Amino acid sequence: MELQELYNRTVREHSIRPHNFLNLKKNPQAWEKQNPECGDTIRIFLQWNSQEELEIAFDMEGCAVSTASASMMTDIVKGKKKQEVEKIYQEVLDVMKGSKEANLLDTYGDLSVFKGILAYPVRLQCAIFPWKTLQDIIEKRYL
Ligand SMILES: [Zn+2]
Repeated sequence: MELQELYNRTVREHSIRPHNFLNLKKNPQAWEKQNPECGDTIRIFLQWNSQEELEIAFDMEGCAVSTASASMMTDIVKGKKKQEVEKIYQEVLDVMKGSKEANLLDTYGDLSVFKGILAYPVRLQCAIFPWKTLQDIIEKRYL
């Protein structure tokens, strides 16, 4: 299957039925952030459990690209320890911002389809948005 076709299908599936999606609108412990590029709003709840593994859920009013990216992101980082989570979002953000090779995304399952939009800055901003939000929560405001 062509990458573009695989991208369309995978993004559609994740945006219609996002994984780790919870209603967090009234959850005071959820962090909320907006993407000025396209008006997406994301809420992320996260905590480290007694094994120091990440528990994460999200809620979003957003476009298909950002919703799919958040769905894939939560699949990838949940259950991981902090050091590993930090390494993952750093690597993904480096690829999406063009400072690391696109093929690194192949190690992240469905996320590899985003190789197909690395040349499209607007859609890319929406794909980056959940990852940047996760980084901000972990590095600037939480734990
Ligand atoms: Zn968007």
